[in-house]
Amino acid sequence: MNKKRLLVLSSPSGGGKSTIAKELMNTYSNLRFSVSATTRKPRAGEQNGVQYYFLGKEEFETKINKNQFVEYEEIFGNYYGTLKSEIDKAFFDSECLIFDVDVKGAMSVKQNYPEDALLLFIIPPDIDTLEKRLRSRSTETEEQIRLRLSRAELELAYQDKFDHIIVNDELDKAIKETVEFIGEKMEVRIDE
Ligand code: ADP
Ligand code: 5GP
Repeated sequence: MNKKRLLVLSSPSGGGKSTIAKELMNTYSNLRFSVSATTRKPRAGEQNGVQYYFLGKEEFETKINKNQFVEYEEIFGNYYGTLKSEIDKAFFDSECLIFDVDVKGAMSVKQNYPEDALLLFIIPPDIDTLEKRLRSRSTETEEQIRLRLSRAELELAYQDKFDHIIVNDELDKAIKETVEFIGEKMEVRIDE
């Protein structure tokens, strides 16, 4: 089996994607975050071009019409999408990419890059824990939290379509398991 270059991480919102992605990027020197475009407003501390390219609705729709997205979805009332230019650049620079996208986005990336995509689904031990973690993050309003929890079921229904599942119960254990799995399956490097 050839080693993969595109790691797609999905989970219900609050499942631990960002936390685990950060650890993976600290471990592997040639693994970079794929910056998606979105119309949602930046959270405190988020910077344009780092977590997302923050676009206006019209700007996003212009890029849709110009066919600049590999995939895009409307989630929680906002657009989110993966730009083709992100992937082209990573391939040109011989880097591996890590995608934090919803389950439908994950399916699209796999469909477009079947040889290169590795799909990893992160599940919380149970829904109550998911809710607690989402609340503890304190980044969403009550209404946004409800919206995110109500979508969790849809997201969980896709887990069988992924290449591998990690249960994020104890964080250190989930990180270790993910780091090992990625080291085995992807073209990642650890620079001394
Ligand atoms: P996502 O990116 O999937 O929405 P986050 O990585 O932001 O999720 O995690 C949601 C919250 O839960 C964060 O505050 C994070 O620190 C916390 N968290 C993640 N994994 C664990 C874990 N195994 N145990 C306890 N808290 C966790
Ligand atoms: P958040 O607002 O918490 O950053 O993201 C909300 C949801 O949008 C998450 O499930 C996240 O994985 C998803 N998402 C972020 N970027 C993209 C993208 O480019 N495409 C798709 N399909 N989903 C995305």
